[in-house]
Amino acid sequence: MDTIFSSASSSQKSAIKIIRVSGRKIEALPKVFSFKPTQPRVASLRKIYDLDKKIIDNALIIFFPGPATVTGEDVMEFHFHGSPFIEKKIYDVLAKIKGFRIARRGEFTKRAFLNGVLDLTQAEALNDLINSETESQFQLSISQYEGALSKKIQTWRNEVVYLLSRLEALIDFSDEELPKKIEKDFNFKTLKILNEMKNSIKQSNYGERIRNGFIITILGRPNVGKSSLINHLSEKKVAIVTEEAGTTRDILEVMMDFEGFPVVLNDTAGLRNTKSKVEKIGIERAIEKAKNSDMILVLSDNEDFSHPRLKTLGKKILVHTKSDLGMLPNKDIFNISVKRNTGIDELIEAIVNYLRTLDPKEEALLTRKRHIDAVKKSIDAMNDLLNINLNVNPELASENLRIVAKEIGNITNVIDVEEILDDIFSSFCIGK
Ligand code: GDP
Repeated sequence: MDTIFSSASSSQKSAIKIIRVSGRKIEALPKVFSFKPTQPRVASLRKIYDLDKKIIDNALIIFFPGPATVTGEDVMEFHFHGSPFIEKKIYDVLAKIKGFRIARRGEFTKRAFLNGVLDLTQAEALNDLINSETESQFQLSISQYEGALSKKIQTWRNEVVYLLSRLEALIDFSDEELPKKIEKDFNFKTLKILNEMKNSIKQSNYGERIRNGFIITILGRPNVGKSSLINHLSEKKVAIVTEEAGTTRDILEVMMDFEGFPVVLNDTAGLRNTKSKVEKIGIERAIEKAKNSDMILVLSDNEDFSHPRLKTLGKKILVHTKSDLGMLPNKDIFNISVKRNTGIDELIEAIVNYLRTLDPKEEALLTRKRHIDAVKKSIDAMNDLLNINLNVNPELASENLRIVAKEIGNITNVIDVEEILDDIFSSFCIGK
């Protein structure tokens, strides 16, 4: 296996940059860069030189002998003055060593997984952690990185393996009728796992939203102040604000941090009867978007909040805009004025309070489609299992349990399918 290297810091200038090297041939590096070998795990200042013995930098070197390292392999870190130019010089030297190459996306983490330092959910969480931008994203990813989801998966797996062993024992003694008590116990345990799995599917929506943002859609007639509100909220001019009716034709998405919750705000086409084809499509999309939203803000600058009927589980909030021109005294309606900056904090508070109620208060959330698909397949197999007569067809029952064990095992440990691994790690940045 090649020895890999990559910058572990950003590509811009900074006080310090770090290059990380991982693999078998780390011990060759002192000779290559002409410095005295360092003690393991002791940060040591060394002058490093290129292959023509010209100085590159005075760098801090740390050598971590494997397997107790981030990748499970020998690792060396170069901490040097943060110029992209120095970085390039070090890269040039490393690239010339036989068996050394630049790491691919996520390759450090992939090696950590293959060497058993992390399981797959932890590796995914590491990526989420590095990408986290809000408090809730940080909390979810750090708990998954610490193994919250791994533990839950492991518990399910242990329970399924236990059921499987009971069943195998029964198959060996299949001459006798299964005692009722054992059958009852078996079904009870199967149902318990099944219910937990169903519950985790329900909660997975929250995990997915924490990663990708809760969806809030703004609906209302043209000119009621939809774009103005979004602009005001994001403090950037992201949507065109204009006095001409019907300018926001398509859906505009803005990602924001609402007191720790990631929120994707959708500004939609103004709802009105129109002959324009483009506008009609825009309105249809707006309605479609609203249906799949966690919250819908219905905006109006008068008393008319009418809008197309929506089949949605999302919470609707009525917002009266331009309240500087006149208030609507109704406790169920939020009065806001973007012009005067009034009522908006209260609106945000109501949104955040609602998002808080969605929190299932569970650390071990399924956060990816990959996890959800595996649990759904397991649920199907468990449902089938409950319809199997254990006295008549115990082999079929154990086949179903094997499917479940494999599916949920894959959540933490796909070992033999290179394609799946590539798919997972290719979403990482280089250097992770
Ligand atoms: P949209 O078509 O619903 O996106 O509406 P816009 O955000 O483009 O706003 C339409 C018009 O209403 C613009 O002229 C805005 O300046 C005006 N407007 C927006 N918010 C307020 C407000 O709080 N008070 C007043 N007086 N005018 C507003």
